[in-house]
This record gives sequence, structure tokens and C-alpha cells, in this order.
Amino acid sequence: MNCLFCKIINQEIPASIVYEDNSILAFEDVNPQAPVHILVIPKKHIATALDLSTEDNELIGQMYQVANGIAKDRKVADRGFRLVMNCNRDAGQTVFHVHLHLLGGRSMTWPPG
Ligand code: AMP
Ligand code: ZN
Repeated sequence: MNCLFCKIINQEIPASIVYEDNSILAFEDVNPQAPVHILVIPKKHIATALDLSTEDNELIGQMYQVANGIAKDRKVADRGFRLVMNCNRDAGQTVFHVHLHLLGGRSMTWPPG
């Protein structure tokens, strides 16, 4: 499968890994949009949020737990941070392996662009 994030999971492409367990990987976004910009992904290939099944409910919960832990480690938890999962074209999804963006370290505007 020609999936960029599966290649990172399989160590075919390097990444700056910040967390790993049996089911989740987290690494620095190569084009950071905030002082803290980390991607949290499941090791299971799931293309978009629309492809999540009820079987994945626990996995998605784990992604949020990992993101919370990293936010605390990076000292952005108290001041605040943003967790974003883009889905399909209008949201700007470019990599079709679900990922949670953890963005923090600056104040952000709402609504997003
Ligand atoms: P999205 O637009 O929501 O699909 O987000 C994809 C994200 O992946 C973007 O923020 C990219 O900067 C990031 N990205 C693309 N290639 C890499 C890579 N090789 N290593 C780390 N992050 C990447
Ligand atoms: Zn994949």
C-alpha cells in the first residue's frame, strides 16, 4: 500500500517520533503550523474519519489519551491546545491515513481558515 504514514510506521521513511506503543504512533509534523505540532496516528491503516468502524472506538480513545499526555509533556495542556482531524477535500486532508493534529504553543483563532 502506498501510504506515507504506513511507511513511517514501517520505518521506511524517517520521522521524529515522540511516542509509540503497540497501536499508536506520534511524531513531529514536518511542516509545523504552531510551536507544538504533533501527529497522532493509529498503526492500523484507516483512510479517513468516515472509514472508522465501531471496532475502532477504543483505538480512537487511545489516540486522545496519547495526545493529552503529549500536551502535558510539552507544557501546553493548561494554556490550551487544539486537536484536529481533517476529513476529505474541503477540510484539506492530504494524507489518507487518519491522524490527529495536536497544535499548541500559540493562541489560535476561531473559526479556522
Ligand atoms: P492533513 O492535511 O490533515 O492530511 O495533514 C497531513 C499532515 O502531514 C500535514 O500537516 C503535513 O505537514 C504532514 N506531513 C506530510 N508528510 C510528512 C512527513 N513525512 N512527516 C511528518 N509529517 C508529514
Ligand atoms: Zn496508512
